[in-house]
This record gives sequence, structure tokens and C-alpha cells, in this order.
Amino acid sequence: MATKKRYGFVIDVARCIDCRACLVACSVENRVPMDHTRIWVHDLGVQGVYPSLQRSFVPYNCMHCEHPPCTEVCVSGATYKNPDNGLVLVDQDACIGCGFCVDACPYSVRYLDEKRGVVDKCNGCIQRVEVGQQPACVATCVGGARMFGDLNDPESEVSKALSEAKTVVRLDYEAGEHDTDPNIYYINFAPVESLVMPGDMRQPLVTASGELPHPPKYSISELGWKKVAVPLLAAGIGGAFLVQAVYFTKQLIQGEKEFEE
Ligand code: SF4
Repeated sequence: MATKKRYGFVIDVARCIDCRACLVACSVENRVPMDHTRIWVHDLGVQGVYPSLQRSFVPYNCMHCEHPPCTEVCVSGATYKNPDNGLVLVDQDACIGCGFCVDACPYSVRYLDEKRGVVDKCNGCIQRVEVGQQPACVATCVGGARMFGDLNDPESEVSKALSEAKTVVRLDYEAGEHDTDPNIYYINFAPVESLVMPGDMRQPLVTASGELPHPPKYSISELGWKKVAVPLLAAGIGGAFLVQAVYFTKQLIQGEKEFEE
């Protein structure tokens, strides 16, 4: 039996030159509104002590987590993990724009499109991948830093890059019962000797500034409340409409009968 696909990104930090062509390509491909973006490049700044200096750039977008907190809070089922390829997607026809998932993501990679009233984020350019193309950010990356593919296929470019990498790190978010288990792998990030690193090598990158990943902006009790109260409210409103519709239809039928008599 063929193994299920697990799409993910591998990013060679040593090759990113911060040109941001990927941001432009993504926005054009996915018609992202001018005041929003689906991907970012985090500048770690100059690190180390002269003469041992280096500057690194960390591109990131949705981590397509194995255990995504965003899907846990989605009240309409619009946000889901595709069972065939592992990408975390948003069905924008089903999205009600409540924004809970925006607050739940420890990587702040989601935004609320105010004009359309729906949430948007990286979808791995699934529309391109399905026809055999690479995501726009990967296809346009001039330094060859961005790679995308099936992490479960040992022959894929991403798997080979991982097996040949000098270092492999992720921006995992682990706290209490949460463990996002992200599917973006950063390779060849080589900290200079004098650089002070926070903790161990599993979370060395953006966490130095405390920006990413960060705890979701809700407590467990709030999560429970949202998952119960919002569907109840939606069901209540739907029920009220139904009662009104039945009452109106009855009145109509009764009126017709009286007219005939
Ligand atoms: Fe969801 Fe954020 Fe993880 Fe993407 S990075 S799967 S939006 S929690």
C-alpha cells in the first residue's frame, strides 16, 4: 500500500538572501490583498562578535502542523487538515470569519480578510501542486532556499535535502498538551561560535526574540466556551429562522384555503 503523502517545506537558511521575491510571487499567485501577506522573512540581524559575524534570514509561512491548534478551535469546520496530503487548508465557503483560528495559531500566519469576511493563509499553493507545479514561493526562490514536497517519500527533493543537511531545526511549539509538530524544516542554520543560543538546537531561530512561536491567545476554558457557545448560538439563530419559516408557510396555506372557501 502506498504511503500517504505528507507535504512540507524544507528551507535552506544558508541560501536565503532576503530578496523577498517569494512574498511577491505568493501575493500575485494567490491574489492576497495589498495590506496582507501569507509569507514572511524574519531577519535575525547581525549575530556573533567580530570577526566571527553572520546574518541569517528565516522565511516562514503556515507550518502545516501535524497537530494544528487552528483546526481545534474552528467552529464551522472550515479549517481542516487534508487527510491525503497533510496540508492545513481553509474552505472559505464554509468560513464564518470568527477569527478564532487567527488567535489560536502560535505562528501568527493567518489573517482575517475584512472585505470577504473570511480567514486566509498559505495553502501550499495546492492549486499549482495538483497540476504538478511547485508552490509560487518555491518556484520563484532565486537562492534555491525554499523546497517543497512529500516528506514521506525518501526520493523527494525535501527528503534528500533533509538527509544531507548539516543541521535540521524546527520552530516547534510545545506547552502542556500542545505540540504543533510543524512541517517546515530549517536546514544548514549554522550559529557562529560566539552566538548565545536560547535553549537547545530544536528552537534556535526566531524564538530568540520571543516572537515565534508564541502561546495561543486563549485559555483552555475559553476554547471550551467558544467550541460550545458559538455552535449553540448558530443553532439558535438557525432554529429561530426555521420556526419563522414554518409559521409563515402555515399562514400562507391557511390564507389560500380561506380565499378558496
Ligand atoms: Fe494552523 Fe498556524 Fe499550524 Fe498553520 S502554523 S497549521 S495556521 S496552527
